[in-house]
Amino acid sequence: MPTEPISRLARAKLNLALHVTGQRADGYHLIESLVAFADFGDEITVAHSDEDSFVVSGHFASWVPIDGSNLVLAARDLVRKLLPGTNTPPVRIALNKRLPVASGVGGGSSDAAATIKALLALWGAQIDAEELARAAVSLGADLPMCLVGRPLVARGIGDEVEPLRSFPAVHAVLVNPGAQISTPEIFKALEKRDNAALPKWTEANDTFAVAQALADMRNDLQQAAMALCPAIGDVLDALRSNGAELARMSGSGATCFGLFDNFGPAVAAADVISKMQPGWFVEPCLIRGTD
Ligand code: ATP
Repeated sequence: MPTEPISRLARAKLNLALHVTGQRADGYHLIESLVAFADFGDEITVAHSDEDSFVVSGHFASWVPIDGSNLVLAARDLVRKLLPGTNTPPVRIALNKRLPVASGVGGGSSDAAATIKALLALWGAQIDAEELARAAVSLGADLPMCLVGRPLVARGIGDEVEPLRSFPAVHAVLVNPGAQISTPEIFKALEKRDNAALPKWTEANDTFAVAQALADMRNDLQQAAMALCPAIGDVLDALRSNGAELARMSGSGATCFGLFDNFGPAVAAADVISKMQPGWFVEPCLIRGTD
């Protein structure tokens, strides 16, 4: 068992496209989503300790619960449950909350996935990937995709994950206007739930090709979210007028992403937008490719 603390990045999850294609009898919506992960996110650090503890720091610390309802603690308890008979001694878990909360970038699910990976490393334990993904759905439908953490297509209620063979790294800027959005409320507000399927992903080598392919796809939640939170429209305008090849909302919002053909233009756009709107969350990042 390692004695040093172990840290893992809980990457922002970006729904580059999200099609709502139906609804199950139990009310859950069926989706088809092209998902990728940023090199920016929360940080989870786990360390051996005399007793279990949990601390939260970072810009968005006050937005998350610190009791058992935090997905980090639910993830710790799940790992212990999946490792009966294995030595899983007390841990101190620290969460550096850098991602906006309830904002469509899957912060809670990504924190849970990073916690699972960090604890398995700390305890020197392994769980079969399929068994882990199946069990982790109990924490949220986005857990399997966050455990993969690479470009993928998700289907079903988001829990059926197919990693992509080839996807380029792409520069992006994430922008949130400071609004929290309730995912169930957005789904409830949808006027249409049987939209066209996600087109098959074909190879794309650079930002332009990715933006072109994404232009034929949609986020079917975007219109409903904009009706509830008009600031999303301002965010998309700001990204487009500052050079984004494509700008779209992620998940149920309100975080949007803009795609840029290089690091320089992304940083320049982020700079202009954050000066224009000092209250917004603005973060240039690299979307991780398959390489
Ligand atoms: P998704 O894109 O999967 O819908 P989201 O980005 O909209 O997710 P999260 O940031 O994951 O939403 O937060 C959803 C809810 O989960 C919040 O209301 C929050 O109180 C709760 N929550 C529990 N643990 C966490 C955590 N570690 N980080 C963020 N939210 C958490």
